[in-house]
Amino acid sequence: MNIIDFINYFPDEESCEIYLKEHREKAGIRCKSCGDTSNHYWFSGAKFLECSVCRRRSSLKSDTVIEKSKLSLHTWFLAFMLKSATKKGFSCLKFQLQLGLCRYETAFRMMHKIRVYMGKRDALYTLKDMLEFDEVYVAIATPGRVKGHLKRGKGSQRKAEIGVSAESIPLEDLETGKTSRFCGYFKMEVLDKVDGEHVKQFIKKNADGDIVLFTDNNTAYSQLEAIVQTHFTVISGKDSTNDTLRWVHKANSNLKRKLLGINHMIIYKYLQNYLNEFVYKLNRKYFGDRLIDRLIITAIHPYMPRADTHKQQTQNELF
Ligand SMILES: [Zn+2]
Repeated sequence: MNIIDFINYFPDEESCEIYLKEHREKAGIRCKSCGDTSNHYWFSGAKFLECSVCRRRSSLKSDTVIEKSKLSLHTWFLAFMLKSATKKGFSCLKFQLQLGLCRYETAFRMMHKIRVYMGKRDALYTLKDMLEFDEVYVAIATPGRVKGHLKRGKGSQRKAEIGVSAESIPLEDLETGKTSRFCGYFKMEVLDKVDGEHVKQFIKKNADGDIVLFTDNNTAYSQLEAIVQTHFTVISGKDSTNDTLRWVHKANSNLKRKLLGINHMIIYKYLQNYLNEFVYKLNRKYFGDRLIDRLIITAIHPYMPRADTHKQQTQNELF
């Protein structure tokens, strides 16, 4: 859907409500009280629904990114369009101006809520087969209380530590013998610390099946063969790691450029949200103007607790 299609498809509040109702029915409505998924009844012009078993009532917007928001659905749908319209994204101020919002804080909250839902969507998928893993350090805003006691280098309070992994399949051209690497999906997570324990947790949480893992020779990665099928380490150097860890290195430098260019100094507690957006778009880089359709679904989808989503998690196709 391009912008013209969007304007035609969602001209007003009612068109957004109809779309949301249809999607909620398609995704399956689950009662928060009794867990029933069979029958729900709509009332008040489909603005509310009632569980046929326990009679619990909830709004059309419950369990979605729009829940508890006083803004119209139409404003939210426009926000989804703006969020997906450019690869680099808008600054919060531009976002506020484009949506005609009175307060900067409202725009800030909306942007972060959407980023949280981007993370929820990508959490439904796990990485498979051959993976690259690396860490990256990004600059963050320093709290005033630690300004006088700053450490330098890797443990500095000015830098946050992030784990980065990418599906990466080595390919060889049978005619020329040239090798390259095909990249699949990415994951990025803020880590309390880049050490053996935290990296293991990252891999266990984000990867599934028999994993062949490529890393550099950082000592934090020395125990990883215990949790993967095979672990290859390459000695850090321009040529060796450039080839083997090509996609994580590329993602890391693009991330740094993006955070510097658009978001400037980031507060630590929001960093994961920025990573969610970066990875969400990276994983859908070939979606083109279909990205907006996907983002609407991402934001209005009622995500269920982890145990209920097993079927969705085993799926390895992004949508
Ligand atoms: Zn119920």
